[in-house]
Amino acid sequence: MAGIVYGLGPDYFVKFVEVDTPSMTLSLICPTKDPAPWVAAIKAIDSGIDLRVWPDDGDKADVTFALVWAQPQGIFAQYANLQVIASMGAGVDNLLKDSSIPEQTTVVRMVDPQLVSQMGDYVLAASLNHGRQFLNYAQQQQRRQWQPLAPQNMGDITVGVMGLGQIGNAVATRLVQVGFRTIGWSRRNKSIEKVQVFSGQQQLADFLAASEILVCLLPLTPETENILNAETLGQLPQGAYVINVARGNHLVEEDLLLLLNNDHLAGACLDVFRQEPLPQEHPFWRHTKVTITPHIASLTNPVSVAPQIVENYRRMQRKQPLMNQVDLRQGY
Ligand code: NAP
Repeated sequence: MAGIVYGLGPDYFVKFVEVDTPSMTLSLICPTKDPAPWVAAIKAIDSGIDLRVWPDDGDKADVTFALVWAQPQGIFAQYANLQVIASMGAGVDNLLKDSSIPEQTTVVRMVDPQLVSQMGDYVLAASLNHGRQFLNYAQQQQRRQWQPLAPQNMGDITVGVMGLGQIGNAVATRLVQVGFRTIGWSRRNKSIEKVQVFSGQQQLADFLAASEILVCLLPLTPETENILNAETLGQLPQGAYVINVARGNHLVEEDLLLLLNNDHLAGACLDVFRQEPLPQEHPFWRHTKVTITPHIASLTNPVSVAPQIVENYRRMQRKQPLMNQVDLRQGY
C-alpha cells in the first residue's frame, strides 16, 4: 500500500515522497475454530479494523497481526510484514513449534478472568468429587450398593498445584478459599497467601510427596514435557489423585495406567490427552478410576478476550509495548 511521507529536503523545499508501507490488517488463521464469533466480537469493539479470515485473506503482505489457533505449520513464511501473532488461547505450545515465526514478531496470548475462573470451577469440581468420594458412590450405585464410606474433611486433604502462573495462582487461591490445604510448585519462588510454595527441580520431590491431589497447570515446554511419569507420580502419597488440565504431553499415559492398576493412585481426572480426540480404543475410556472430559476445562470466550485483542492491535499501530507477551526463550 502506498503512503506519503512529508519532509524538508536539503534545499528547504517541502518534498512529497511516495513510499511503500504495509497496511495494518488483522487475519484470523484458525482452521479448527469457527471464526464468525471472533470476527463479530472484534468488530463490535472496532468496526474500522481491516479484518480478514484465512485462507481468503487477500494480499498477505497487508497482514501485520495474526490471530491464530492450530495454524498450518510453516504458514507464517507467507506473511512478509507480520508484526504480532496472538494465540487465541492461554497456551502457546503448538504455536511455538512453528519454525516459520519471523524473528521480529511479538507473540502474545490470552490472559482472561473468565478463562481463569472456569478453570477454578473445573479443578474444584474434580477435587470435591474425589474428596467426597462421588466416583466411588457412582460405582456403588451401579451395584445398587448402600455403603457409607469414611468421610474426609477438605481441610485434611493437601492439593498440590504444579504451575503457579495466571491460572495456577488463581486456582490455588480458590482451593484455599474452599478449605483445601494447598501447596504449589513453580520454576521461581513466589508468595501466595496461605499457599506453601515450592520451586525448582530441587524442591519437586518434597512438593510431590505432600500432594494428595496433584493438579497440573504447567505450560508445555521441553522442560515440562512428560513431567507426569512413573518416577514423579510414584512420589505422590499412596492413594493420591491426579488432575491434568494442562496439556496431554505432560503425562506419560502408560505410566499413569501402571500406577492406577497397582493401586498406588486412587484415580485421575483428565481433560487433555496426547492424542485428541482420545482414540476409541484407548484404555482410559473404560478405566473405572479415570474421569474423562474432552478438553473443555476452560474455553476462551471471544467476547471476553476481544478487548485485549483490539488493545494489542492498537498498541501495535502506535508501536507501544503489547500486553500478555510470551517469552520465546522460556516457551511460555
Ligand atoms: P503461565 O501464566 O505462563 O504460568 C506458567 C506457570 O508454570 C508459572 O508459574 C511458571 O513458573 C510455571 N513453570 C513453567 N515452566 C516450569 C518448569 N520448568 N518448572 C516449574 N514450573 C514451571 O500459564 P497459565 O496462563 O497459567 O496457563 C497454564 C497452562 O494451562 C497453559 O499453558 C495451557 O497449556 C493450560 N490451559 C489448559 C486449558 C484447558 O482447557 N485444559 C485452558 C487454558 C490453559 P514461574 O512462575 O516461575 O515462571
